[in-house]
Amino acid sequence: MKNSNAFHLHVVGAVADRFGRRPSRLSRRTRFQRVHAYSEQARSLRARTGKMPIFRLLASLLFVFGALASAQAKLNAVATLPDFGSLAREIGGDKVDVIVLAKATEDPHFVDARPSFVVSLRNADVLIDGGAELELGWLPPLLQNARNPKIEIDKPGRVQASQGIRLMNVPTNVTRAAGDVHALGNPHFMSDPIIAKAVAQHIAQSFAALDPANAGFYEANYKKFEATINAKLQEWGAAMLPFKGQNVVAYHDSWPYFAHRFGLNIDIFLEPKPGIPPSPSHLAEVIAQMKAQHIKAIIVEPFHDRRIAEKVASATGARVVEFSQFPGGLPGTDSYVKLIDTLVSRLAAALK
Ligand SMILES: [Zn+2]
Repeated sequence: MKNSNAFHLHVVGAVADRFGRRPSRLSRRTRFQRVHAYSEQARSLRARTGKMPIFRLLASLLFVFGALASAQAKLNAVATLPDFGSLAREIGGDKVDVIVLAKATEDPHFVDARPSFVVSLRNADVLIDGGAELELGWLPPLLQNARNPKIEIDKPGRVQASQGIRLMNVPTNVTRAAGDVHALGNPHFMSDPIIAKAVAQHIAQSFAALDPANAGFYEANYKKFEATINAKLQEWGAAMLPFKGQNVVAYHDSWPYFAHRFGLNIDIFLEPKPGIPPSPSHLAEVIAQMKAQHIKAIIVEPFHDRRIAEKVASATGARVVEFSQFPGGLPGTDSYVKLIDTLVSRLAAALK
């Protein structure tokens, strides 16, 4: 899927270069203008290609018509985070171009916003975001700058993944004063594969509403994803069964949904509060709890300070386990299913 997106971008870029136009100028045009422009280009190309070798002529025409077909047929989807992007690719197949804003190894609470994000949001037919404040620190100003009515809340072009999902750990007093980044409840729900199915279904419904001609295609891809997850749930459940009820420590409170699904307790964190860096006094408390409960594993993510986790591990005899919320955040995890496969096998190995 990644390759086909890269190919599509390459094709549009090639046409833009050939005619001395910058891709960014092309991308700002309306769809109609783009299609019209490509037809013009095709005509002038025909006029100028009398002496061109036949293979070059054919290649040029393929570029033009390839770009033309893409401009007409593909939906532009933007996903804030790579887990939503992965599902969008599963559902959209070759009929949707998916751009993911955050990198898989970036902290989703604190993503570095780049100017290209605004351009992507401005050109989007669909935006998939979490809807539970995970992106609160960086998405709202981008949306304001993008001014794209198609992706406003309650439009078919906006999928808020948390819609219909009951958030865990909702605080009784909503306050961000202490720096707590989970003020609405825990926003890291995608590590529960059953929740991921629901999100995939919302994405399929949105794509079908915006592109009714391909509604059956999106529906079929959702059914395939659903069947894969259902089969995998048996396998993952069996792998985690021997560790039912075990306590695990995590750097950040990213795993309550994963823990709930697979019968673990992940309730002790190196951060004293979500988003607040570990302090020596808090870590001393964690070490005492880990010793008392014989905890064997500390989960860290790519953007956490691994040295802190290593210190706690060496004080307690536990192992540090590298996890990621996002496909692509660990080697060999380019899809959602491969990511959960990797998390389950890594944790099972550490808890043995
Ligand atoms: Zn968080």
